[in-house]
Amino acid sequence: TEGISVKDLAEKLDVRGKDLIASLLMRGVFVTVNQSLEGELVKDVARQFGADATVISVEEQLENEAIEGFLEDTTGMVEIVRAPVVTIMGHVDHGKTSLLDAIRSTDVAAGEAGGITQHIGAYKVHVTKPDSPAFGREIVFLDTPGHEAFTRMRARGAKVTDIVVVVVAADDGVMPQTLEAIDHAKAANVPIIVAINKIDKPGADSNKVKQQLAERGLQLVGWGGEVEFVEVSAKKKLNLDLLEEMICLVADIASPKAVPERPAVGTVIEAKLDRGRGAVASILVQNGTLRTGDSYIVGNTFGKIRAMFDDRGRAITEAGPSTPVEILGLEGMPDAGDTFLVMADRDKAKGIAQYRKMKEREAQLAKSSRVSLEGLAEQI
Ligand code: GDP
Ligand code: MG
Repeated sequence: TEGISVKDLAEKLDVRGKDLIASLLMRGVFVTVNQSLEGELVKDVARQFGADATVISVEEQLENEAIEGFLEDTTGMVEIVRAPVVTIMGHVDHGKTSLLDAIRSTDVAAGEAGGITQHIGAYKVHVTKPDSPAFGREIVFLDTPGHEAFTRMRARGAKVTDIVVVVVAADDGVMPQTLEAIDHAKAANVPIIVAINKIDKPGADSNKVKQQLAERGLQLVGWGGEVEFVEVSAKKKLNLDLLEEMICLVADIASPKAVPERPAVGTVIEAKLDRGRGAVASILVQNGTLRTGDSYIVGNTFGKIRAMFDDRGRAITEAGPSTPVEILGLEGMPDAGDTFLVMADRDKAKGIAQYRKMKEREAQLAKSSRVSLEGLAEQI
């Protein structure tokens, strides 16, 4: 860590340098105005002078500046409508995985462009309509269905999804996790599309599903409400085109935007330690464009993009907004839901990563000492 000079600290605390030096002297710390102070000592001294105990360190300030800059400075840059990002949720066995697989298999561009589908946590589907050749759209599906992933990301403050598709099996009806999915989507303020699945099954009763949903406060179109729905069969691949069309329609209302020119910002979808390749992370680029050679901070680690791959395992050099990519060459392991930020220089990224790691260690230490104190109290 770089620390802060006595002079700067005095300025921040609005005290005379002389007084600060005197106070340090009392603590047995001999310094001159240009000398650098670090960590706890800075906090202690600051506290003594009545400053907020949460004095912002140089690294923290760096981080704030960096993030603010990346979030705001897009003046004069062109904004585009980016592809919507969709999460599929619903009760277990209602067909989330089947639906994702079925949709993936409809991707005509997949066959043309070559490459084998890679499971990198998210994938892009190219939607076309045979009767209108001009129609070409893209939808990104998060491949980690399940409430856990969604909740984990939301807990980290990551907003990755634009639309939630709630799958309900027409033979089984509304179940506890169906309601949970609806609650998640509502809490995240994300529009819902209901996919009534398994309509091929003999026991399928989609009217019952609609009624059950209405009773639970989710009124579908035609049932006194505005929530769109599609009746599908993942198994028989029925109406998947209608579902995709509906996703595009709902996306048009929200019309999520991005600025391709800016440095990339994204979220970690998943991360793993790969034998031979080291730390590997799937990132959803949400804004800006990620390029090979870019330095970045992600969670409390950092790195430089030496190579990246798309959802078909093809090496790419650029990834624009709403593109899932797999990146290698991370210095450590990030977590799902961590924010990914391209930084102007590697040293800054490294500094921030070290700072975050230190904070994490401090928090862990505080926790473990609290635990051992509690243990001690119990013994007494
Ligand atoms: P998940 O737990 O929500 O991911 O559900 P799965 O996709 O694993 O599906 C659970 C079971 O339902 C599997 O045996 C699927 O083959 C079956 N299934 C999924 N979709 C359909 C469908 O549209 N029709 C029928 N008949 N079965 C389906
Ligand atoms: Mg599944």
